[in-house]
Amino acid sequence: MSAIDLVKQRVRDVPDFPKPGIMFKDITPVLADPSAFNICLDLMAERYDTSSFDAIVGIESRGFIFGAALASRMRKAFVPARKPGKLPAATHRVEYALEYGKDAIEIHRDALKKGERVLIVDDLLATGGTAAATIELVKKVGGEVIGAAFVIELTFLPGRERLKPVDAFALIQY
Ligand code: AMP
Repeated sequence: MSAIDLVKQRVRDVPDFPKPGIMFKDITPVLADPSAFNICLDLMAERYDTSSFDAIVGIESRGFIFGAALASRMRKAFVPARKPGKLPAATHRVEYALEYGKDAIEIHRDALKKGERVLIVDDLLATGGTAAATIELVKKVGGEVIGAAFVIELTFLPGRERLKPVDAFALIQY
């Protein structure tokens, strides 16, 4: 079995969560398997090994798990992009539409220095609304987005198109 097939095997489909008609891709079994989790981090680290960047912005909440682990491994800063009302200091906020509902995302105004280069990380790219809002947030704080990395991409949705010209990288596509 290839490394990526092992990860794929660990992604659990949960139908009708959190709403009827949504097939939720549950990555908790990936996290519970050290081999699968490390394969994800190995492949992401390999993809950005020769890229020059300063920080990883992880999207709440599953983007924190992969993003923080990758930041630690790659010796980059980790910056959380959070749901409204969670960050304690002054924030910027961007609102966006989800595959299921509406939301907003915030970042600390002083999270990045002007011109810092950023990789965005989340578990899954669906419509791209969350990641697109996060790209906007990074720009608001003066950062430059060099790419967006995901464990899973739902290719029947136009997420990748929506992030352009930012390049999207995904380990697994459905
Ligand atoms: P989107 O903004 O539509 O690209 O949605 C991406 C965000 O919603 C990510 O943070 C995902 O964790 C979550 N998400 C959306 N659709 C799914 C799905 N089918 N399974 C698991 N998570 C999802």
